[in-house]
Amino acid sequence: MAEDLVSVNPARPGEVVASFPTTDEAGIDAAVERVRVAQHAWSAVPVPARAEAIAACGAALAAHKGDLARLVSREVGKVLVEAAGDVQEAIDMAAFVAGLGRAPWGETVPCEMPDKLAFTTRHPVGIVATITPWNFPVAIPSWKVFPALLAGNGVVIKPSEHAPACCETFVELCTASGIPRELVQVVHGGGEAGALLTRHRAVRAVSFTGSVPTGRKVAAAAMECGPKLVSLELGGKNAMIVLDDADLDLVVDGAVFGAFGTSGQRCTSTSRLVVQRGVHDGVVDRVVHRARSLVLGDPTVATTDVGPVIDRRALDRIDAMVRAAVDEGASIVAGGEPVAVTGCEGGSFYAPTVLVGVERHHRIAREEVFGPVLAVMPVDDFEEAVDTVNDSRYGLSAAIYTRDVNAAMRATQRLDTGIVYVNAPTIGAEIQLPFGGTKHTGNGYREAGRRGVEQFSETKTVYVDYSGRLQRAQIDNRPPV
Ligand code: NAD
Repeated sequence: MAEDLVSVNPARPGEVVASFPTTDEAGIDAAVERVRVAQHAWSAVPVPARAEAIAACGAALAAHKGDLARLVSREVGKVLVEAAGDVQEAIDMAAFVAGLGRAPWGETVPCEMPDKLAFTTRHPVGIVATITPWNFPVAIPSWKVFPALLAGNGVVIKPSEHAPACCETFVELCTASGIPRELVQVVHGGGEAGALLTRHRAVRAVSFTGSVPTGRKVAAAAMECGPKLVSLELGGKNAMIVLDDADLDLVVDGAVFGAFGTSGQRCTSTSRLVVQRGVHDGVVDRVVHRARSLVLGDPTVATTDVGPVIDRRALDRIDAMVRAAVDEGASIVAGGEPVAVTGCEGGSFYAPTVLVGVERHHRIAREEVFGPVLAVMPVDDFEEAVDTVNDSRYGLSAAIYTRDVNAAMRATQRLDTGIVYVNAPTIGAEIQLPFGGTKHTGNGYREAGRRGVEQFSETKTVYVDYSGRLQRAQIDNRPPV
């Protein structure tokens, strides 16, 4: 008998949030089989009718938004307003994907031959495995499940071992409101369950969001047991450039929100502040002042600014990275240590931290921290700022603060990231636009936006020749020379 998977409140780890049986290999086989049968029928449902079922999921999520947000807050430690945002993103995604159900589904293209029509259409891939992280425990499943369903697929989802209840509740609400119950199956466990699902011979596509090391394993397994379609949405080392002419009030608000919101645990969190020397000291003073005034505490309490990080292991990793930064020559000017919070005994809280004197080769400037730590890096000018941001193996999100429209536009071209913000922090993506990154942040797919459905469908090209004669291939009808 497999052990139960237990999720706890990161603010009070003694408090169990939920417990589910870990799914073993036989359980995964059974889940895949249920999805296989259900998907056969679902693929025959017209796309606009699939869209209506997805719209109904959005309505159900909206009706239960408050309860679900409180669960997100308890299970992963997000402050209530951000937990509600997590749910809102799923509501928005349902509305957007439902709209795509009546949008173009392919393209018609002029043919080289007379009396011939060419067009493309989309077909489901079949069974999609989705493997998700804990940091957006409702939003990220929705980014994958809704487009996959619209495309006519069935889904087996393995949520993070830290957030099983959020995913279960999301799927329950969807299957209670029009999505066939057997079409979306949740399996539970950590890496082992994820690996079994990835390798399953009946799974045709794997949609993964998580860290780079896990993404590599998932891609290798999916190729070895396939090839299968694999989409990877991985980590970030996001940076905000501040030029001397920037609106500094805006900069400070953006840096504090970008670095310390969600305790720095968004894939798009701001972890490098690349500041031109003319405003460096003033920006640091103001960000430090704000960082020190943030209230750490129980994330379900409305007055809390910053909740816990996900667990003790994450706390230790963050602290070790801050210590390593100091060993390499950086200085702590705010935070830099775990914090005990009254009423949250054993909670994994880390003080919002600002490091100055960080250089490009420091580990803190190169590796994802995934915690409330901002590394400040001074630069001489625009060129050095762009080079510094691009000197990273990650390429998710970057921002530039300036009043110079020419510099801003040049930055949008030169920054090697999937998302660029001008005069706004590195977080704030909207679901109707593509989301994803360059370099090690992914493998070229984009989630959300109109392209979000691509990873879950096969494009079919159809030629219809109504000339009544053999027209040969157009390349063979030209004179030889
Ligand atoms: P993680 O890589 O530790 O785990 C992600 C998922 O993979 C979990 O469900 C886990 O159980 C599963 N897993 C672990 N080993 C596996 C294996 N061998 N085979 C299959 N599945 C396996 O990541 P995490 O700590 O849950 O999430 C944080 C990471 O996710 C950060 O790096 C963050 O930047 C990234 N992230 C990226 C995006 C994006 O869209 N680019 C969004 C959110 C989070």
